[in-house]
This record gives sequence, C-alpha cells and structure tokens, in this order.
Amino acid sequence: STRSVTEQQRELAAQGIKYVFAQFTDIHGAAKGKLIPLAYLPDIVAPGAGFSGPSIWGTGLPRNGPRSEYYGRADLATLQPMPWMPGYARVALDGYVAGEAFDACPRQVLRKQVARLAQYGWTLNAGLEPEFFLLEQGANGYDAELRDTLEKPSYDSKSLMRKRAFLDQLSSGLDQCGLGVFQIDHEDATGQFEVNYRYADALRAADNFMLFKMAAHHLAEEQGMLFSMMPKPFADRPGSGLHFHLSLADASGKPLFALGAGEAEQGEHGLGLSPLAYHFMAGLLRHAPALTALCAPTVNSYKRLMCGESLSGTSWAPAFIGYGENNRTVVARVVYQRIEWRLPDSSANPYLALAGVIAAGLDGIENHLPASAPVNEDVYDMSAAQRAELGLQMLPQNLGAAIAALRADTVLADALGSSLVREFTALKNAEWLEYCQHVSAWETARYLDRY
Ligand code: GLU
Ligand code: MG
Ligand code: MG
Repeated sequence: STRSVTEQQRELAAQGIKYVFAQFTDIHGAAKGKLIPLAYLPDIVAPGAGFSGPSIWGTGLPRNGPRSEYYGRADLATLQPMPWMPGYARVALDGYVAGEAFDACPRQVLRKQVARLAQYGWTLNAGLEPEFFLLEQGANGYDAELRDTLEKPSYDSKSLMRKRAFLDQLSSGLDQCGLGVFQIDHEDATGQFEVNYRYADALRAADNFMLFKMAAHHLAEEQGMLFSMMPKPFADRPGSGLHFHLSLADASGKPLFALGAGEAEQGEHGLGLSPLAYHFMAGLLRHAPALTALCAPTVNSYKRLMCGESLSGTSWAPAFIGYGENNRTVVARVVYQRIEWRLPDSSANPYLALAGVIAAGLDGIENHLPASAPVNEDVYDMSAAQRAELGLQMLPQNLGAAIAALRADTVLADALGSSLVREFTALKNAEWLEYCQHVSAWETARYLDRY
C-alpha cells in the first residue's frame, strides 16, 4: 500500500481503533502477539515488536543465542480493524532476528516459496475450507449441543440455525475484513460446521485463515462455546479437514490450470486440466508423504486420515495418494479445473502447509514430472490387491512416519530451509514420542486383566 503509516494511523483513529494486535503465527499454527497502542504503530514497522525467542514455539534453539532477540515487523498490507472486537485492529508480523529475515518464521518460509513462483510471474491462488467443531460444556465435558442428535447431520437446518448468532457475527466480521464469505453449513459430524470464503493468493490466504481462527475463537468464547480446530475430537464422527483449492494464475490473473474452451478435448484424461496442472499435481503426489507432516501435524490428525473410514461410516478424509475427477476418497480431487488438496486438517499451520504445497508443485513443474492416471473409483471400497494394481500408496499412517518422510525429502527440506525443518521435526518428534510412551485408558481396560 502506498499510504504512509501516519495516514493509516489517522484512518484507524477515525474508526475508533485504539490498539493494534501485532500478530505472528507460531510453528504450531497458533496466533500469538502483543497489543500495541495505535500511537506506537510506527515502531512495529521498524525495528518491529520485540519478543523473547525462547518463549515462542519454533524459535527456541539455541536458547541463549541471537534468536532470543526475536522481532516481528508489521506488514502494513494486512493492517485492518477486527470488527468483532471494536477498538482493535490486527496486523500480521514477519519474523526477524539480528536484522535478517528469520528463516524458521512460518510467514517468511511461505514468502520464500511465493517469491519462487513470482520469478515465473505466477501466483498460487488458494481457497482454504475450514471445518471445525462448535462445542458446549456439558456434564461429560465439551460436546455438541444436546438437541443435535441426528445420525446424519450434514446440512441440518435446526442445528445450523441454533448457531446463527455466532455464524452471522463471524461471517459479517470476516466480510468487513474482505474475506468474502459465500457458504456456511453444518458438516458431517454432530457439532461440526464449515465456513467458506473467497480464495486469495497464498500469503493472503494464510493470513486470512489466521484471522478466521482468531475471530471464531473470540466469538465462541464470548458466547460460552468452544471453537475447536482439533482434527478428530470424536472417534466415532468424521474429523475436520482444511482442504486447499489450488490453482496457478499468471501476472494478468489468467488461470493456468484450466485448458481454454477450444482446447479442452486435447487435454489428457479429459479433465480439462493443462499440462502445467498435471506437473503440479505430480509434484504434490510425489511429495505427499513429506507434506503429510506439514498438513496433518498432530498425533490426532491420523485418526482422521486412517484408512478413510470413521467407526460409523464414511469420513471423506483421504488415506491414499492419488487424484481423480470429483473423487473424495483420494488425496487430490479435481473439481472445476482446480486441484482440491484434501490432505490438510484444521490443525495445520497454513503458512507451512502452503509453502510445502508450492515447493512440491514447483518440483513437479521444474522437473516435468508426469502425473499418473486419474482414479475415478471409490478407493475406500477397493481391496488391497486392487489398490496395489493401480499403484495407490497409502499416506503415512502416523505422525512418526510422516516426520520420517519429511526428514527424508531433500526437495522439501531445501525449499523450507534446514532451520525450519530441524525445529519442526524436533518438536513434532518429541510430541510423537510422548504420545507413544503414554499408556491410555483404552490399553489398561483391554490388557490389564487379560493374559
Ligand atoms: N470432513 C472431511 C475431512 O476430514 C471432509 C468432508 C468434505 O468433503 O467436506 O476431510
Ligand atoms: Mg467439508
Ligand atoms: Mg472441500
């Protein structure tokens, strides 16, 4: 933006803004930051808002090294009021250490991949589709509201309308921030909803998703509810995905994944996708095991992804590495000449997941990787032998396997940077080991008295 900081301060003051929430996203994908009185806005542009590095997940190594001086510099293009919290604005920060861009800051990691695309004159457009649970405290902890008991609650009108106060404030607030909400529904699981808003370029899409989470947490708490982005809070219900609708555009905004009207028949496999889209797809599929660590980063994520079936019916979460036309049973669904990347879940750090997606897609493009044939059958229903015949590999089925895949993927490690990959895999491996060492109530109930 060409407006000076002083002009922006004046405009915000006229709108009644007193504080700016200087916000960064930690390596786990949680929004963190400081409140800055509006008068001090120039200071957080340079030198930036100061934070203690070791107090932030993902910036703590080495503990007493230069990273203990962690600065977040405001990206003024993101400065805007948060209408759900009158008097407060938000600005997204980029991490700096010793005056240099901090290489393990998730937003910087994504910026680097966005810059690689820009060298070709391309933008990755991403539409993120958050699914989430909206829960209330009951006698047995948090659950959906008591009246929501339908066996197949998708698109239920009553449970949707009961939450209209929350959903309306969320959607109108986000609209005032320019997100362009276009659909709100009750999802497949009791207590689960989805809000869809317009796609944006990758960096903006990640910033918007963080704004969405902040707004939803704030409004839910204000209304006595819990907004949860846990991927699979209930074993017997579907989990929460965060599908990415992906397409590349050139500098003029022309979509590059779609063949033109006259060319459609010339395309491979009759899906209307351009050769560029197939190379991007091939890159995604080749790097899917490593991307799993970034897109499904918690031990709980794998209870969503596992074998694609929930205990009571279809969960529509992918378990197999393939793509197909309008196929929800594989990791990539081709729809309207876009790629719906179904791997990410609601616990993903959007900056890291999108950075990984760009790095994988660019590997496919730069090395002209060929895409396998599309899979248009229901993969959940296939036998292991049928899957093997089609060469359908399973996604890593636990966090440990996904971390190992990320560590082994030199293309992704180079793109994301050794510093980020080291911090991320160290933290996630500790999480995995702690989980493995935990003896659960399920285990004692099953084994204590058994042998
Ligand atoms: N909840 C499903 C998932 O975990 C997705 C359902 C849908 O396709 O909207 O990915
Ligand atoms: Mg959905
Ligand atoms: Mg979707």
